[in-house]
Amino acid sequence: MRSRWNDADGAPLDALDLLVYASRLIGAETSLVVWGGGNTSIKTVERDHRGREVDVLRVKGSGSDLKSVQRKDFPGVRMDDIRALLPREDMGDQEMVGYLAHGLIDVGGARPSIETLLHGFLSARAVIHTHADAIVSLTNHDRLREVFESVYGKDVLTLRYLRPGFRISREVADAIAAHPEAKALVLERHGTITWGATVRDAYEATLELISRAEEAIGEASRGRRVFGGPRVAVPPPEARRAAALAVAPRLRGILGRARRVVVAFDDSPAVTAFVSSADAPRLSQIGPATPDHTIYTKRLPCFVGLDGPRTGAALATAIERAVDEFVAEYTGYFDENRFEGAALTDPLPRVVLVPGLGMFTAGKDRRTAGIVNDIYRHTIDVIGNASAFGGYVSLSAKDAFDVEYWPLELYKLTLAPP
Ligand SMILES: [Zn+2]
Repeated sequence: MRSRWNDADGAPLDALDLLVYASRLIGAETSLVVWGGGNTSIKTVERDHRGREVDVLRVKGSGSDLKSVQRKDFPGVRMDDIRALLPREDMGDQEMVGYLAHGLIDVGGARPSIETLLHGFLSARAVIHTHADAIVSLTNHDRLREVFESVYGKDVLTLRYLRPGFRISREVADAIAAHPEAKALVLERHGTITWGATVRDAYEATLELISRAEEAIGEASRGRRVFGGPRVAVPPPEARRAAALAVAPRLRGILGRARRVVVAFDDSPAVTAFVSSADAPRLSQIGPATPDHTIYTKRLPCFVGLDGPRTGAALATAIERAVDEFVAEYTGYFDENRFEGAALTDPLPRVVLVPGLGMFTAGKDRRTAGIVNDIYRHTIDVIGNASAFGGYVSLSAKDAFDVEYWPLELYKLTLAPP
């Protein structure tokens, strides 16, 4: 991955402007973060309402998108308040949100990221957290230890999967404090944490971490047949489009049983090759690349089990049957993993994969259907790349559920543009 940093852009900016600049560079790289994922921060000294100098953490607000982030999207939290939490072992989510709200330097500012303490507990001045495809490709398989060691040696720390919140911030801080020589930390099945004395250092550290992962992926993938090769024949593009167009109104009705939805169709080569492959029926049912994708895509897509291309009524019936099965399984997943206060959102799929045809995605509007599409395309990449190292693995159903139904994640959706 190439650095997009340009000193001519960065030179005259203040610390927060530089953070905005670096954040947008990261957001522009969709293989690093998509749609509200990831966050960045810097520790600065500012004057409070009485003109006193205070240490402040400027961290991305919950739900804002890095590629279009602005100064106002970085609420400031008093470092004194953050440091006061360091001796604690754990803290509940709601208590943490309430506590951080009291530490805001600007009254009524944006709600700081749910990963604020991940940044605040580290001593480095600039911190960057991404959900890089290349990194989750390196962690989401069953040969993680061996592969990680060969790519990074001892330079990069790893931490077992833990849901975002206080506990993970505590463990990340402890791990880095115990290994001051480490250059980065990777959160298994989740993403990266890099840091530096300046925003630029942290940005370059991110790119270096990812470039090494990309090289390893390139080597592991060389000459390898992805997804076990084709299983279902793929008709020519015109035939696929005609079949998709004919089934779309019916599909919109099926997926819009609970609420009106817009459906998007994608039969780009990478998508069609995956859905028509020998391994897709199994690989598509393992789980997401990184936890926060579940709030858009749900944990799993609906896979339509066809053994050849279908059109018209046969296609519609097969899709309807697959969606009914999905609803039954999703409802079971909800019942098994529910916690107090979790309310079943609609049990219908957001992603429908049709062998020999392509992928449909559903959302409340065109933008959302497009976001779901984007995210699943990245998931396909990650599944393919992780499979080059070993058997693809993801979060457990319980861990995925805890993020999908976590009130602090759902809060992000309320901030998305209408
Ligand atoms: Zn994250």
